[in-house]
Amino acid sequence: MLLRNRLLSLNLTSFLSPPSPPPKSASFLFSFNKTIAHSTHKRPELKPDVSASRAAKQPMSERARFAKTVLFVPPGVDPEDVTDEMILPGSNIVVGPYAGHSQIKEVEFVKSSGRAKDCPKDDRPEFAILGRSNVGKSSLINALVRKKEVALTSKKPGKTQLINHFLVNKSWYIVDLPGYGFARASDAARTDWSSFTKGYFLNRDTLVAVLLLIDASVPPQRIDVDCANWLGRNNIPMTFVFTKCDKLKASKGKRPDENIRDFQELIRENYKQHPAWIMTSSVTGLGRDELLLHLSQLRNYWDQ
Ligand code: GDP
Repeated sequence: MLLRNRLLSLNLTSFLSPPSPPPKSASFLFSFNKTIAHSTHKRPELKPDVSASRAAKQPMSERARFAKTVLFVPPGVDPEDVTDEMILPGSNIVVGPYAGHSQIKEVEFVKSSGRAKDCPKDDRPEFAILGRSNVGKSSLINALVRKKEVALTSKKPGKTQLINHFLVNKSWYIVDLPGYGFARASDAARTDWSSFTKGYFLNRDTLVAVLLLIDASVPPQRIDVDCANWLGRNNIPMTFVFTKCDKLKASKGKRPDENIRDFQELIRENYKQHPAWIMTSSVTGLGRDELLLHLSQLRNYWDQ
């Protein structure tokens, strides 16, 4: 609880700061497939030191505005009804009535595909996992499914540049996408981080959301921001999964929570409602169960 409040207040403080100068690029609305209406709201003008729990005690309308702007409010929840207890620890994610069975009992590798049209053809919902090389993607997949061979499959030579489908509990897919990351790439290379992966995002009807992994142990990287903005512009639902959040004792540079706050600062200009985000660590297990619960509510709503 303490950590949750501390992290929330650290991160949410940035959202509640006095309005920043107008963004250079046009704002766009992040929307979730089939989600409840996400209408346009101004950022609440609260004082910078307001924490989530204090905000939860504000009058209803202000609290609802806070919820709509800063939190991820899932389908089935009225922002007016959001309470502090409904927010998953170390995240901005509100748990709603669609959250349900979330643990992974079995997982099987199905296939590797070179093109979106070669991916499995059925109606099962899927979550794509994406991030820079070395972001901790294999470790997170391992931690989620608790089976080393899954992540190892994706790391096999020849598979890293493919779309890898894993069937979970015979009912939904985890999709491991090629890592991106050309630290010194030109702008052209950055925006063309993978035309075939773009094809997957734009054409995959059963894609419920992208889990965009961001390394919280380093400052925000331009390529991650570009990737997030590309997904946002194309209305691809996403959840920011911050990795390596256990690295709290870094002797140099900023702490993960500070890096996360800086990343959110860069991102928020482009969203009227902030996408879901969650802190994780594959070393300590931080955020694992919470992330699975979040996926369950997205999936169950999609399944309807
Ligand atoms: P991938 O290339 O994105 O699949 O990244 P890996 O999962 O192979 O991880 C890259 C490096 O980061 C490895 O040395 C991991 O041990 C380390 N790593 C991954 N996740 C974590 C984490 O949560 N905490 C810490 N401290 N290190 C991590």
